[in-house]
Amino acid sequence: MTEKLKVLYVEDNLMNRMLVRRLLEAHGYSVLEAEDGLSGIKMAQEELPDLILMDINIPGMDGFEATTKLKSIEGLKDTPIVALTARVMDGDREMALTAGCDGYIPKPINVDTLPEQIKDFLAGKREMVAVAEERVYLREYSQKLVDKLQEKVEELTKANEELRHTDVMKSRFISIAAHELRTPLTIIQGYLSMLAQSGREAMSPLDDSVMEMIRGIARGVERLNAIVEEMLDVTRIESGTLNLHLGPVSLKDVVTAAVRKLKTFAEEREQEIIVADLSGMPPVKGDADRLLQVFMNLIGNSIKYTPDGGRISLSVRVIEAGEILAPHVRSASQGEFTEVIVEDTGVGIAEEDQERIFRRFYEVKDPSLHSTSKTSFMGGGLGLGLPLARGIVEAHGGWLWAESEGYDEEECPGSRFHVLLPGADKAAGASSGK
Ligand code: ADP
Repeated sequence: MTEKLKVLYVEDNLMNRMLVRRLLEAHGYSVLEAEDGLSGIKMAQEELPDLILMDINIPGMDGFEATTKLKSIEGLKDTPIVALTARVMDGDREMALTAGCDGYIPKPINVDTLPEQIKDFLAGKREMVAVAEERVYLREYSQKLVDKLQEKVEELTKANEELRHTDVMKSRFISIAAHELRTPLTIIQGYLSMLAQSGREAMSPLDDSVMEMIRGIARGVERLNAIVEEMLDVTRIESGTLNLHLGPVSLKDVVTAAVRKLKTFAEEREQEIIVADLSGMPPVKGDADRLLQVFMNLIGNSIKYTPDGGRISLSVRVIEAGEILAPHVRSASQGEFTEVIVEDTGVGIAEEDQERIFRRFYEVKDPSLHSTSKTSFMGGGLGLGLPLARGIVEAHGGWLWAESEGYDEEECPGSRFHVLLPGADKAAGASSGK
């Protein structure tokens, strides 16, 4: 059995598509359809049709432009493209041929002649336009293209400006909202501790159940405070006002503190946290509190995105700039760095998300999975943790990036987060490690 010849019809009008499909199928062709220029190009590249019927008045990229593009694609250069159009003004035929079409069939479609015409083009028929004429049309065609390009560039520039403005407004809103929330939170916190203190010390102390409620409210307020601080930190990083208190920092102390704070959560999930021996590590130049924030975030994420019973391991090494594996980092750096790798046996991260997760508010999963818990499996938070962590590491003159074989909840390929921090220089007063 011989393969059916494939005809791709690029046309936005459904009735026309149905008519041509029925007609050509009855003549033994297999018919592919695309509604506009861009999807037509994509389909042509994937399907490599034997002939393309191209409507000219289609939305977005018009039929002329789509044809010019198709003719520039290796593998489609020799595929006949026939303009099928209601535009039958003077010069339209020449314009179609100049844009790269091999033929021109005016609409309305004549069901008696179309199959025969297609057969001719498949057999090698090519319509031509005289060279002198072609030059004139080429100029007109390029002018039209430039006009359209100018229009698009203007549209994009305007859209970009609007986006930038919206982004500034959003940052301003976050900053104002966070500042506004901080004041009442501080008041609540103050009253709560007074209440707790008087509950304990009063002549008739509050009973345990009331004290437990007070502790519950306090925990909630603490969490709210942490969220507000996270929001403020992000705006600080954006505006470059994150002030670091730099000094020689022992990574061993920072990592140990982060693990200690998160250990119970890992235990609840029956996860093991393995920390390599960090005793010989030289100090880095950094802000201990901010670095603690970075590692708490990374380890917290590893706990969140690793199923129960999984493993989180932390390793450290000192490397020279030349040994750094991430190419964008290597070219921009010199000297000695300390690299901490936080590795887990979790769900992993798809290749296309490995950079996006560092964008503010970006979450790979559905936002409906938002969780108030910081550690429940796959419970997404605000999507600010990683941008914040990267902002902090970059403010240290370092880099933070993610690696993973991909995302798979069944196979769990795991993720690796690399934190690269410059070594403490002598000026920072660092002479020996802890
Ligand atoms: P969130 O508050 O949602 O955890 P983050 O900025 O900390 O925000 O992380 C952004 C996204 O990156 C998460 O929603 C998650 O999809 C992905 N992610 C972060 N860490 C890991 C990890 N260790 N393993 C798999 N995915 C991760």
